[in-house]
Amino acid sequence: MDTEIYTPLRLDEIEGSLQEEILENLGVDIETCLECGKCSGGCSNGHIFDYTPRKIVQLVKMGDEETLSGMDALWICLSCQLCLDRCPSGIDIPRILDYLREKAVKRDVRATRPNAKLFMELMLKEVRDKGRISEVPLMIRFKKKTGQYLKDAGLGFRMLLKGKLSPFPSRIQKTVGFKKLLSESASENKG
Ligand code: SF4
Ligand code: SF4
Repeated sequence: MDTEIYTPLRLDEIEGSLQEEILENLGVDIETCLECGKCSGGCSNGHIFDYTPRKIVQLVKMGDEETLSGMDALWICLSCQLCLDRCPSGIDIPRILDYLREKAVKRDVRATRPNAKLFMELMLKEVRDKGRISEVPLMIRFKKKTGQYLKDAGLGFRMLLKGKLSPFPSRIQKTVGFKKLLSESASENKG
């Protein structure tokens, strides 16, 4: 975790190419970052991140893509959007992390956590096939692939008992239209 005392960026540390790329491709303007740290304070997984959300924004400003694509935070962000909710400038950090993760995967950068990439792939397959994620079928598929049948089994069972997990798969009604939307969006991204 990033425990060092916060230091603001100096102007000579700023290298704008990644910042511009993110503005152009995602429409996210990190120039408006106030360095207030509300994103880091509210981050659900900040206690185990190696770089906090505020530091991640700084690293984007510094154009330090090597550090960004090798950091653990890239693989353990929950996409919970809390940082975005709290940010006074509306900076979409989860979207930036999605984008950096996509780039890291394309460049074949290894995930810092074992099976993190596999989990992401299975989760995205759930979304593509059903339009939503059903946790129990996802976990069964993940465990079959990794052979970790008993890991977290007790926790899963307790969640089932408390009604926090549904054993039944669910899907959206209009999967055909949804898949068409996804394929249109994929072609737009290629184009
Ligand atoms: S909450 Fe927003 S403005 Fe504040 S440091 Fe984080 S990204 Fe920057
Ligand atoms: S979306 Fe990721 S970075 Fe933002 S608060 Fe959630 S876990 Fe933290």
